[in-house]
Amino acid sequence: MAKVAGVGSLVVDVTAYAPHLPVHGETTVGTMFRMGPGGKGSNQITAAHRAGAEAVIISKVGNDFMSEIMLDHYKKEGMTTRHIKTADGVSTGAALIEVDEKSAQNRIIIIKGANDKITDTDILCAEDDFKTCDAVITQLETNIDSVAECMRMAKKYGKPFILNPAPFQKIPEEIIKNADYITPNETEAEFFTGVHIENAADAKKAAAVFIEKGVKNVIITLGKSGVYYTDGKTEIYLPAIKVKAVDTTGAGDAFNGAFAAAIAMNFEIGDALRFANAGGALSVTKLGTAPSVAYKKDIYDLVLKEYGINPEKKYE
Ligand code: ADP
Repeated sequence: MAKVAGVGSLVVDVTAYAPHLPVHGETTVGTMFRMGPGGKGSNQITAAHRAGAEAVIISKVGNDFMSEIMLDHYKKEGMTTRHIKTADGVSTGAALIEVDEKSAQNRIIIIKGANDKITDTDILCAEDDFKTCDAVITQLETNIDSVAECMRMAKKYGKPFILNPAPFQKIPEEIIKNADYITPNETEAEFFTGVHIENAADAKKAAAVFIEKGVKNVIITLGKSGVYYTDGKTEIYLPAIKVKAVDTTGAGDAFNGAFAAAIAMNFEIGDALRFANAGGALSVTKLGTAPSVAYKKDIYDLVLKEYGINPEKKYE
């Protein structure tokens, strides 16, 4: 089975829904509370698993009850936790999310906790998985040293290195230039290139800046406007697949996980983008992030319906 490996964040999402968000000093009575597994790394590696790859996350939790929420999630999914280490003295990553039910606006505080404590030794423990995997994916929600080390592992074993540069922040150029695939959304692409993006033509300009930096393949996700791709020579634009959007949070994670799985399964780039576009579209039809991620069969069905391509026949 094709394998995806990568350093990624584990974050417990703690969400409160209320008719309005409190101002300083105010207490608002909310209507609903949810607590569950999240984090860009976890969501993407889970999406890669559901999309049909063996998926291995290298990460860290705190020595607290919240770690159980993350570990239980992996057990339920039937995924390995062999490279999830425990750090003392810090909490498991947590996101405190407040949602205004009327406007659907939210406010989020992220505590990175153990996600900031991933060491080179932790990553070295997973060396065998880097050696035997087919694609490596990482994001910017763990300490940047761990992102760099993940990149070095991918390079050491000649594995395609997929960088989802989120949440955006300044990082060493070395990490960007070594990306075989970079997958920013519009805001992230603007941060790294200085090009404001409103349409595919703007995405093309931003992508050229990444290519100039040394990135091999640029994929800019454009939300309900789809996705733009270039390797500097050829380009592909796919409109978003028309679906009934219920909740778009986590669409990027679903897209990235499916994309990593497709690259690991050796799909040619156009098919990998179609597969990921379908994965992203399916995720917006359901509430939540982790729970809304689609399974391979549903992605295959949508790819066949939308593009007339049967990836199963073509690649398996
Ligand atoms: P992020 O969640 O990182 O901001 P995007 O919003 O760009 O990422 O969405 C990622 C991908 O998910 C898009 O490129 C597209 O494939 C899919 N997607 C997002 N929103 C929709 C939508 N409303 N309808 C269909 N597909 C969508």
